[in-house]
Amino acid sequence: MINTISYLGLGTMGSGMVSNLLKAGYKLTVWNRSAKKCGPFAKKGARIADTPADAVRDAELVMYCLSNDQAVEEVVFEPKGILSGIKEGQIAVDISTVLPATSLREEEAYTKRGVDFLDVPVFGSKQESADAKLWIMAAGNKAVFEKVKPVLEHLGQTIHYFGKNGNAVAMKLVGNLIVALELEALAEGLVLAQKAGLDLSTVMEVVKVADFRSPLLVSNGQNILKRNFSPSFALKLMLKDAGLIEKFSQSLESPIPALRVVQKNLESAVALGFGEENASAIIRALEKEAGVEVKARGAGRSKEMEQND
Ligand code: NAP
Repeated sequence: MINTISYLGLGTMGSGMVSNLLKAGYKLTVWNRSAKKCGPFAKKGARIADTPADAVRDAELVMYCLSNDQAVEEVVFEPKGILSGIKEGQIAVDISTVLPATSLREEEAYTKRGVDFLDVPVFGSKQESADAKLWIMAAGNKAVFEKVKPVLEHLGQTIHYFGKNGNAVAMKLVGNLIVALELEALAEGLVLAQKAGLDLSTVMEVVKVADFRSPLLVSNGQNILKRNFSPSFALKLMLKDAGLIEKFSQSLESPIPALRVVQKNLESAVALGFGEENASAIIRALEKEAGVEVKARGAGRSKEMEQND
């Protein structure tokens, strides 16, 4: 049974997961590039490590959730990285959304040190992470997965096992392809509805109940109408994932014509300065082109619209 865990990367997703692991009674060590994010967890009893190598000593399970492939490269492979401190018999779990090829490179490096490795990406966002309601996927050795599963049960509402390493992140990219297209569809639909003079609150009432409904469309649509773009899943991360999906699909010669359009709109929205906002801010690229701002009736004009006048 696993009792000691090191967790590296206390961003939007990592911080929720660490809170739940502490609540579940695990002995935690935490590390984050910007050390100030460790403070609240030290107060709850976690040990704070100075480096990734220091973080992983003595932990039975090492988990990390980092922005992208580059961050994983630095935290895992660089001097003072995880690989320089981890030892035979420990288990490493990468929760980050990265290329399957990166997972396979991690697996190879860990195997050389006698360390077991699983790729364990997740669906769900800030709220699901905080509420231990993530939808979790895992890939790697089945016996290792069974050892880690009780820990994952404290983080999510479902866990699906996908077989060999790399398959779970492949599934994550498949899912994020669908997410990207859903957000684009929502944004295009709302801009069109606004231009058509429809009452957008009623539009969202229909989106909530019709046969094309999805929780993602409802929560993002309602927030767009309130002009709430505070990040649960940052636009810049969605753009990063679009790049991963592009590379992955190219490697398999699988067509992604619609994603290319979404990618262009994500790039435009980031270029407009909205990269730190929620991924739903993709709508801002379309709003600019359409010369409208999508919001519920009665809401005032935003500062950006006034600046654009
Ligand atoms: P986030 O809030 O931006 O946090 C990113 C984390 O990575 C932070 O701890 C950050 O450290 C760290 N980091 C970034 N670059 C680094 C580097 N070069 N070296 C060391 N640490 C580095 O991101 P998030 O939303 O938690 O997402 C984390 C991962 O989960 C991403 O792969 C994302 O695609 C995936 N994901 C996100 C969501 C979501 O809804 N947010 C859902 C599912 C999966 P600092 O604090 O120092 O910046």
